[in-house]
Amino acid sequence: MICIPIISATKKEALRAIERSCLVADFIELRIDLIGNGNLEELISAARQISRSIKIIVTCRRKEEASSNGGKARIKHTKTKKMDLFKEAIKLGADFIDIELAVGRAEISKLKSFCEKNGGNTKIIISYHDVGKTPTLTKLKEIFNQCAGEKPAIVKIVTYAQSAEDNLKVLSLIPYACKRSQKIIALCMGDEGRVSRIVAPSLGSYLSFATLEPQGQSAPGQLTVSEMKLIDKLLKKVNTSPATNIVPTDTPQNYILLGNPVKQSLSPFMHNAALKEMGIAESYSAFCVQNLGDAVRGMRGMNIRGASVTIPFKVAVMEHLDDIDNDALKIGAVNTIVNESGRLTGHNTDWLGLIHTIKEALTIRDKTFVIIGAGGTAQAAVYGIIKEGGFPIIVNRTAEKGKILSVRFGCPFYPPSEIGKIKADGLINTTPVGMYPHKDESPIATAALKGYKYVMDVIYNPLKTKLLREAQEQGCQIISGLDMFVHQGAQQILLWTGKEPPYELMQKVVLERLTNIE
Ligand code: NAP
Repeated sequence: MICIPIISATKKEALRAIERSCLVADFIELRIDLIGNGNLEELISAARQISRSIKIIVTCRRKEEASSNGGKARIKHTKTKKMDLFKEAIKLGADFIDIELAVGRAEISKLKSFCEKNGGNTKIIISYHDVGKTPTLTKLKEIFNQCAGEKPAIVKIVTYAQSAEDNLKVLSLIPYACKRSQKIIALCMGDEGRVSRIVAPSLGSYLSFATLEPQGQSAPGQLTVSEMKLIDKLLKKVNTSPATNIVPTDTPQNYILLGNPVKQSLSPFMHNAALKEMGIAESYSAFCVQNLGDAVRGMRGMNIRGASVTIPFKVAVMEHLDDIDNDALKIGAVNTIVNESGRLTGHNTDWLGLIHTIKEALTIRDKTFVIIGAGGTAQAAVYGIIKEGGFPIIVNRTAEKGKILSVRFGCPFYPPSEIGKIKADGLINTTPVGMYPHKDESPIATAALKGYKYVMDVIYNPLKTKLLREAQEQGCQIISGLDMFVHQGAQQILLWTGKEPPYELMQKVVLERLTNIE
């Protein structure tokens, strides 16, 4: 079971983190010593609204036991305030409160009886953290026995690993606790301790902590949820079928997003909602990739069924694949990979999404479109418009890139300074200009929008960019990038599963996320 600590510095950020965490984790831990202006009632009720099954731990860590990782400023609560917060958590129905052993027997026993008076639904975790070292095994057993002596639901012992051997000491507490029928969470922090986070769950540690993003650690050495889930899957595979340890199975599983950065991506929300609705047990996780070759090798090794590819790898990924589909080859970019028994084929669904979206508004044949930009999306747009019998005209900041594209596809190129000279039916922005958080930017001046019947922006965050707002004021019919995004994603699912994806649901999920962000 995976627990994501919520450590955001403001309530707003915490609510956002809760929303995301509740969709991917089994537990969240509300670190009320870190969440600025955190209102416990609001945080707990937000989590319950998103997921009825999520388990909530409320923690208020002492300075001495809080790792300084991430440079988060701690909120100094007095001892009385801390006890009041725990009582409030109990009244609000938190599933667990995590109290340090160091708080003392008297306070622990007061909180235990408060729990019982309030129906006994909140369980107690008694914890011990050493943020600088790992004590000897004898000392660790002594600490465990003291914690267990308070008869909590769970004992938690976390230390800092200075060497690989430290992991062995802490991990050995797990069978020690199990023999005494005591549930335990035991692991080591720090880079040396990472291995304990991987091994502890399979030895019987009650849960493991993970982050949504690599930079969101509440303690050093924490892995991301996606990494933990992959490891779990691998370990399970190894346990159930030793033969699959080395050779991939014939049925690849799971879906991933390869990009850098990926934290802004809405694809995990959209794809996971779709897979769930389709009754597919596999999941979709985002990977922030440093080394593309390694990531693709990992995809083969772990037999991942499909991947989305995003900025900046849409072109670079092609050399790592076995086959490229005809459309993707002509466009010169891949945004989707399908793994057929170890053979990786690249596809491009961006152009399908874009063309589908335009065709909902107008017929492309014989119409002229100004394409602003000359990157991956511009290539997909130019390709799709030509394929549909339309005429693209390229306008790009870097003349050299624009000209290369115009020669490749046999269409005109203009520098941005000459955009006013062009007569066309539609204009499509394929640059990131105007994308959140730069909502007040537009790739062209308002005056240059006169004369276009249709204006499309491939950006979908915000839903109505400055370009679209101004185009609407000029009387143009506007087309947002939302449908393109959903459609390219739906096409990915179709390629991976061969089944029709729930388009409306995917659109609803993305729209909800965007409305929340806005
Ligand atoms: P890309 O390959 O990096 O190309 C970006 C293009 O935008 C380049 O031609 C670049 O011009 C131009 N550009 C960048 N910053 C600019 C600026 N400040 N002023 C003028 N031109 C600028 O990126 P991409 O993969 O095509 O993605 C572009 C956008 O499309 C992103 O915002 C992405 O999120 C969006 N997108 C949306 C969907 C969807 O489903 N709705 C799908 C794919 C992409 P230079 O050549 O001068 O550098």
